[in-house]
Amino acid sequence: MARKFFVGGNWKCNGTTEEVKKIVTMLNKAEVPSDDVVEVVVSPPFIFLSFVKSLMRSDFEVAAQNCWVRKGGAFTGEISAEMLVNLGIPWVILGHSERRSLLKESDEFVGDKVSYALSQGLKVIACVGETLEQRESGSTMAVVAAQTKAISDKVSNWTNVVLAYEPVWAIGTGKVATPAQAQEVHSDLRKWLKDNVSAEVAESTRIIYGGSVNGANCKELAAQPDVDGFLVGGASLKPEFIDIIKSATVKQ
Ligand code: PEP
Repeated sequence: MARKFFVGGNWKCNGTTEEVKKIVTMLNKAEVPSDDVVEVVVSPPFIFLSFVKSLMRSDFEVAAQNCWVRKGGAFTGEISAEMLVNLGIPWVILGHSERRSLLKESDEFVGDKVSYALSQGLKVIACVGETLEQRESGSTMAVVAAQTKAISDKVSNWTNVVLAYEPVWAIGTGKVATPAQAQEVHSDLRKWLKDNVSAEVAESTRIIYGGSVNGANCKELAAQPDVDGFLVGGASLKPEFIDIIKSATVKQ
């Protein structure tokens, strides 16, 4: 079965109630391809999850940007996977590079988080990606393979996982990967899944690209055979997010 195009919007730590309302109103009015063609998931800060879920059109889903690694309890400031399930939030982003670098989340910790979130019934957007230094030293694939292995070591069922390849040097920098650079890593990641997990998982798992995607560059990226969609940061707060969603039609 063909992989359904996937577009995630990562709002990061942005927005007031009024701004959030404006973005949702803009999304609710948009004419986009049907949910047979594209799956759209937006990820507001925790504090707005229920608000966004209550206002958002029914064909778009909502994701948290993180969750705790195990069952909730005495973990001040954390939000558990069980709480997200209880709120009816179906998705969570895990292993984003900002958390890996700023909050020192290790590959193993991210693998544990993905495993626990899946065990509670959440669907996971799991992020991997190399820094500029790692790319320039030729270790891109070694880095993303190690990050993916830390996930695959803990996960036996990949049905509810979307893998987001997000080169750190492209996130929030305006310096997007070229279509050829994105395709090369996506294809290598798919091969890694084939060799280390299974041919079925390699064929069915969506591998999406993230890093300075915008309305102008999305179509060329979407046309790459192993690019199954996008995780979008900055542009997901703007009307051009609609154009990015529409780039799904490139696959048809
Ligand atoms: C992200 O934060 O996941 C991201 C891809 O950000 P941006 O699109 O702003 O580069």
